Amino acid sequence: MKEIHVTAVSEAVAALAVQACCRLPGDMLEGLRAARAQEPSAVGRNILDQLLENADIAAREEMPICQDTGLAVVFADLGQDVHIVGGGFEDAVNEGVRRGYVDGYLRKSCVAEPLFERKNTRDNTPAVIHTRIVPGDSLRLRLAPKGAGSENKSVLKMLVPADGIEGVRKVVLDAVLAAGPNSCPPMVVGVGLGGTMEVAALCAKKAAARDLESVNPDPRYAAFERELLEMINRTGIGPQGLGGLTTALKVHVEWAPTHIASLPVAVNINCHAARHAEVVL
Ligand code: SF4
Repeated sequence: MKEIHVTAVSEAVAALAVQACCRLPGDMLEGLRAARAQEPSAVGRNILDQLLENADIAAREEMPICQDTGLAVVFADLGQDVHIVGGGFEDAVNEGVRRGYVDGYLRKSCVAEPLFERKNTRDNTPAVIHTRIVPGDSLRLRLAPKGAGSENKSVLKMLVPADGIEGVRKVVLDAVLAAGPNSCPPMVVGVGLGGTMEVAALCAKKAAARDLESVNPDPRYAAFERELLEMINRTGIGPQGLGGLTTALKVHVEWAPTHIASLPVAVNINCHAARHAEVVL
C-alpha cells in the first residue's frame, strides 16, 4: 500500500490554488484564441483580446485572473491502494486551501454559514471537496475555483421522461439566457443529466470543470454537446454580453443512470475564467 503524507496533500493543494487562480490553463487560452479567430463582431473580438491580455498579465505578474477567486472546489480521486498518513485527508486539503489563499494573497470568499451572520472565514476554508475512491495507488487532485457570478446562474430542474430531449434543450437555453452577461461570457456550460437531484448537480459541476477540448465519450452525447453549443451561440449574447458569436466556448454533458420516472437536468455555468489545475501524487 502506498503512503501519502498529509503534508504532501496540503503542499499540492496550496500550489494548485495559486496556479489555478493566476494561470488560465492552456486549454482555455486555446479556446479563447480560436474563438477570437472566428468571432465576426468587432466588439466581440476586442473583448476576447482583452480577456487574453488579462490572462497574460495575470500569468506574468502572478496575479489573480479575476478578483473573485471563488470557493475552492476540489475533486479528489483517491486510489484504494493509497493510505493517507499523518492526519485527516479533508483537514489536509483545507490546510492547503488556507495556505494557498492566504500566502498567495487570493481573495477569501467563503462565509461560515449562509443565512444569518455570513461571517467570512478569512482563509477561504472550508473547501468544497468531492472525493471518489477509485482503483489504483495514486491520488488525483483537481482544484477548480468557482466564482459566484456564474455559479449563481446554475439551474436544476426535475424533468420527467416525457419532457425528452426538447425539455433538456429548453432548460439549457433558458439558463444561458437568464445568465446573459452576468456570468462573464464566453461561458463553459456544464450540463448534468440523470441520477437523483444531487447527482445531476454534481454531473453538471464535473462537466463545467472538464478540460475544454474534452468531449463526451458516447457519440450521442458528444453530438448533443455540439448541438447545444450551436444553439447557445445563436443567442448573440457574445463575449461579456456585448454581442457576437462567442457566447460559449464549449458545452460539456455528463450523465448518470436515473429512475424510470425521472429526467433531472442541472446546468452549471462557468465563465471565461474557467479555472482548473490538477496534480497526481
Ligand atoms: S463570473 Fe468569473 S470572471 Fe466573472 S466575476 Fe465571477 S469569477 Fe470573475
